[in-house]
Amino acid sequence: MNRYSAIPMLAVLVITVSCNDKKQAKQSAAISADNPFLKQSTLPFQAPDFTKIKDSDFLPAFEEGIRQQKLEVDSIADNPQSPTFENTLVALEKSGRILARVQGVFSLISGANTNDQLQKTEEAVAPMLAAQRDAIFLNKQLFNRVRTIYNNRSSLNLDAESLRLTEYYYQQFQMAGAELSDEGIAVMKKLNEEEASLMTQFSNKLLDAAKAGVYVTDNKENLSGLSEGDLETAAKDADQAGKKGKWQISLQNTTQQPVLSSLTNREVRQQIFNNSWNRAEKNDSNDTRKDIIRMAELRAQKAKLLGFNSYAEWKLQDQMAKTPKAVDELFAHLLPAIEKVKSEAAELQQLIEESGTDFQLEAWDWNYFAEKLRKAKYDLNEEEIKPYFEINTVLEKGVFYAANKLYGITFKEQHDLPVYHEDVRVFIVLDQDGSQIGLFYCDFFKRDNKSGGAWMSNIVEQSHLLETKPVIYNVCNFTKPAEGQPALISFDDVTTMFHEFGHALHGLFADQKYPSLSGTNTARDFVEFPSQFNEHWAIDPDILKNYAIHYQSGEGIPEELIEKIRKAASFNQGYLLSELVTAAVLDMQWHTIPEGETIKDADQFEQEALTRTNWYLKTVPPRYRSSYFLHIWGNGYAAGYYAYLWTEMLDHDAYEWFMAHGGMTAENGQRFRDMILSKGNTIEYATMYRNFTGRNPKITPMLKNRGLL
Ligand SMILES: [Zn+2]
Repeated sequence: MNRYSAIPMLAVLVITVSCNDKKQAKQSAAISADNPFLKQSTLPFQAPDFTKIKDSDFLPAFEEGIRQQKLEVDSIADNPQSPTFENTLVALEKSGRILARVQGVFSLISGANTNDQLQKTEEAVAPMLAAQRDAIFLNKQLFNRVRTIYNNRSSLNLDAESLRLTEYYYQQFQMAGAELSDEGIAVMKKLNEEEASLMTQFSNKLLDAAKAGVYVTDNKENLSGLSEGDLETAAKDADQAGKKGKWQISLQNTTQQPVLSSLTNREVRQQIFNNSWNRAEKNDSNDTRKDIIRMAELRAQKAKLLGFNSYAEWKLQDQMAKTPKAVDELFAHLLPAIEKVKSEAAELQQLIEESGTDFQLEAWDWNYFAEKLRKAKYDLNEEEIKPYFEINTVLEKGVFYAANKLYGITFKEQHDLPVYHEDVRVFIVLDQDGSQIGLFYCDFFKRDNKSGGAWMSNIVEQSHLLETKPVIYNVCNFTKPAEGQPALISFDDVTTMFHEFGHALHGLFADQKYPSLSGTNTARDFVEFPSQFNEHWAIDPDILKNYAIHYQSGEGIPEELIEKIRKAASFNQGYLLSELVTAAVLDMQWHTIPEGETIKDADQFEQEALTRTNWYLKTVPPRYRSSYFLHIWGNGYAAGYYAYLWTEMLDHDAYEWFMAHGGMTAENGQRFRDMILSKGNTIEYATMYRNFTGRNPKITPMLKNRGLL
């Protein structure tokens, strides 16, 4: 699954006041007058001038940005005039411009092109921003003003978007705990602090646990089945770890490990699987079980303090699902996956027996035999299809072409705008009438100093209030070809390009007054909807014909290859869905415990949680075990991992709507743009969705697509 896009705007805007002035003073280098973030860029679209930005500019700009925003926020809170929408909420929306500028560029560079200095800056800035957020959203004086506006909102003659902004701010303050007594706020700050330090501790332990969990062998035979390339990597990894002459298999953060689909030695498979499964449960200094229990308890306490029965109940308020009950219903609809898993398991068991061996299928066997079956059943060879997916053709004749057919937009490459790396390309996006919509940067190739995965975000947020147009980027990790060679990518990569560009469209079509509500600044269980929806066009016959062209012969992809790609896409779906659902179930179970419940044993809790919800599957372990579930304990997805499944329901349902209404027409595209892609967070999500399809989302199209019906 792709790394998340959409860093909530809040981070910039409302990310608030400063934490520890002394500490800042120590780190602080005085900001020089020519720091590029002090002033708005004069380039088109306020695009950053990367030729003028030095690594040493970021930290002072963050410090100055935070300081200035604090002054702005204080003057809003201390304003002697009685609170109005303009002098409070609009003023908040306008605050923090320096911070927004530096944060927009820093997020991009520190993710896509980092170095030691930028990493140090990142570490220094994270707590400053976190503390600032608390200082704004737990600022009682400011909250009192927001509440007054909120209480009078129906008599203020506000337009719909301003009304939504009022409700949005009120809810954000309320969720943070601004309504609590002074004593309550003090308790909340303490709980936040303890949680934040446990989250960092968890992430650090996990890194060490993964390092300690590597599989090392001095017998190459043990790794038979791996490709020469994989073996080379294993030898290099061992070498770098000071184990010259050996082979090392490093752990990825998921339960299943990529090598398990090709390793022929069953005992080695089992060992690597166990290394993964038990990585953070060895009763040593990397054991995370006590930490996660404590975090679950802290979160339950926070929820109780705010008047909720559970953390999930509190957290889901501003999401599309709204309640844990709605998420449970989604899980219940997905229960047919279990039957599918059983039939897939039976097929694999048969393959085991046919291969002349005699053992029961286990979790560490699944991917190995599934891969065998996939080859036998679909005969789909990556090397055979890659020549049809040359990256520039895919981008221009696939991704851009689909957007042109649906939304009428065109793209003009810019060679004069500065970039931060030679691989980056920049396009101006033009509307049907030739007017400029925004800028699109793409940075597709893997680099050592780039984070893994693929993502989208904004450098500049669209806002009519601030008179800004969107400046958007997509970052991916495709293998860079040797000098002079074409970049041929897999169909998975093609899908990723369409996915990330779906986020880009959501950002480009933004048409909001207020930056906090603009573009992709939407709930987690909504933001992946436009991106996943856009993936459907990758395999649309008309689009595919246009972009899947052999890079040498210029011939279109043969029909039978398309058919193979389609068929292979439905393979092993019971397993793939179930490992996601079981992880999402664990997340919800940990975050619906009532305050005061003591959990003695994390493993027992996990086992009981899966059994109680009917999701315990012996051969399908959760994609992440509780003790290494970084999303929920370290990365802000607590009670939020279900979002991937929720948006999958939306994207298939919306695609079905398209197909039932004439398919890929400009008219349907315009409707989707008008009612979804351009709406940001200005309408309640369920209403927005109903406006588009005329009904509530249905689960059936997703189940059909996963082969569960
Ligand atoms: Zn995404």
